[in-house]
Amino acid sequence: IAPPRPITSAKDPRFAPTLYANVGRPESWQLSTYLLAGGYQAMQRAFDIGNDAVIDEVKKSGLRGRGGAGFATGLKWSFMPLNDGKPHIIICNADESEPGSFKDRYLLSEDPHQLIEGMVIAGFAMRASVGYIYIRGEYVKAAERVWAAIHEAREAGFLGKNILGSGFDFDLQVHRGAGAYICGEETALMNSLEGLRANPRLKPPFPAAAGLYGLPTTINNVETFCAATQILKYGWEWHASMGTEKSKGMKLFQISGPVARPGVYELPLGTTFRELIYDWAGGPLEDIKAVIPGGSSCPMLPFDDKTLDTPMDYESVAAAGSMLGTGGVTLIPKADCIVNATWNLVRFYGHESCGKCTPCREGISSWMTRMYEKLVRGQGQPGDVQLILDMSDNIGGRSFCALADACLGPVLSSIKLFREEYDALANTGTPLYPARKRWRDE
Ligand code: NAD
Repeated sequence: IAPPRPITSAKDPRFAPTLYANVGRPESWQLSTYLLAGGYQAMQRAFDIGNDAVIDEVKKSGLRGRGGAGFATGLKWSFMPLNDGKPHIIICNADESEPGSFKDRYLLSEDPHQLIEGMVIAGFAMRASVGYIYIRGEYVKAAERVWAAIHEAREAGFLGKNILGSGFDFDLQVHRGAGAYICGEETALMNSLEGLRANPRLKPPFPAAAGLYGLPTTINNVETFCAATQILKYGWEWHASMGTEKSKGMKLFQISGPVARPGVYELPLGTTFRELIYDWAGGPLEDIKAVIPGGSSCPMLPFDDKTLDTPMDYESVAAAGSMLGTGGVTLIPKADCIVNATWNLVRFYGHESCGKCTPCREGISSWMTRMYEKLVRGQGQPGDVQLILDMSDNIGGRSFCALADACLGPVLSSIKLFREEYDALANTGTPLYPARKRWRDE
């Protein structure tokens, strides 16, 4: 299939989304609509070229995991053992819960067949017989649409025994979460699927060695599976022609906060923050002081020319002192109290900690949350900011999974960038800027 031309700029008339091509179309979630748009041809191509060639294609495309970590997808797929005689499992992590991230939600509810096709392709490549889609509990409509699409795909012979006469058997199951952020951590997700408490497991062993029920398992994000569909549809060269040297392809960027047009934008990796914020999202509606570049776990960056000119790819955002993460960009207004804004995130992490390890349970859920509460209530004391820094030193790198470190991202970066706001609250009890009303306060 002739690939659409890649986007290079917001002003480029060649704008042609692929991952989001069907989003917003009438009845886009139905099989008939998907087939009219060339659906399930990528799967047929995968069967034609064979399992190993599919993994090779994904490797050469340069696709990196879109859940946030950016691990090389083809490499991850190649970790699955060959001829081990065990059933293989693939899992779609659709537990999208990172504050500022809302891209997978529309892929699930508006284009579920793209995901199903990507999972069949992945299942075929990794010799899996079953796939699980773990959907965030709050995504009710998305879960219903995915279930309905699975039934349609089964009836059409795209799932089940001997798919399209290929000799490949594969089926999908949907599991709905129950509202816990930690279930998005891949090993906690597997515990949750097994009916256990969603505590993270020790890694290694990584899931390909011992995953769900101890079987070889590969977990990918919704957008990653959808990108695999596009790669098999248009070829690895097309995918590798977009993005930067090490961050290839299109990415779903999300933007929230006071901008004219918040939402999801499909752009090549390497698009600058300036282009996303001004050209696509229509620019800020008020003065901005900080940018969270990729979901709340990623350290804040100052809203200045250097940040605005930073390309949104894994390497450049890391070099700027943060992470690309899920590509969920959040703008923080200048007139908002940074301590209160950060407390909002600290409360979130404190509430979502699973409680398994001491640094996170006592450090984040208890100490850090109480320290911030004390500050924003105007009951701070001189020395409190230093105490937060000392506590962070004892929490960082010492927790069982990434949740505690994720909380320290906004804490440490906001203190570094806006120390005077913290000091004012700690020393005088009065914030430099009044706090915005937050839904948790209601
Ligand atoms: P990670 O770097 O530990 O792992 C990423 C993936 O690569 C995993 O699947 C892991 O199994 C695999 N992997 C890593 N090293 C490996 C090795 N040596 N051998 C085999 N496989 C290996 O990151 P993570 O903890 O899975 O994810 C962290 C990211 O998740 C954060 O950067 C954050 O942006 C993101 N996140 C996303 C959401 C969301 O809602 N989408 C929520 C929270 C966090």
